[in-house]
Amino acid sequence: MKCDNCTVSVDPGETFQHAGQTLCEDCYMDVMTAPKSCDPWAVHTAKKLVSEEATLTGSQQEILDLIEKNGPLTAEEICSQLAITLDEFQRSFATLRHMELARGFKRGEEVCYTLFHDQQAG
Ligand SMILES: [Zn+2]
Repeated sequence: MKCDNCTVSVDPGETFQHAGQTLCEDCYMDVMTAPKSCDPWAVHTAKKLVSEEATLTGSQQEILDLIEKNGPLTAEEICSQLAITLDEFQRSFATLRHMELARGFKRGEEVCYTLFHDQQAG
């Protein structure tokens, strides 16, 4: 089976249904935690970045640096430390997520963000 959002292959037992789409766990969590991040265009842009130009924008790099040093952090913590809006964060983070550099996970009721390959977090 394939995730309708990011087209990654998923085991049938690990899919999630949302709004008529079959999603992998990551995309499902993205949808549930940030309704606006389920944007096919953002995914398309991120994929383009990966294949053609693996460079990060300034704020993407700053987010990555920050969670590398101080993560896992909540969106609010990241936004206040980098002085960016939640919107800017979500847009930048969508790219980091699809480049498999960073990811979100649930800690209790909060969503935290960490490096993609952080084994200790959620
Ligand atoms: Zn997905």
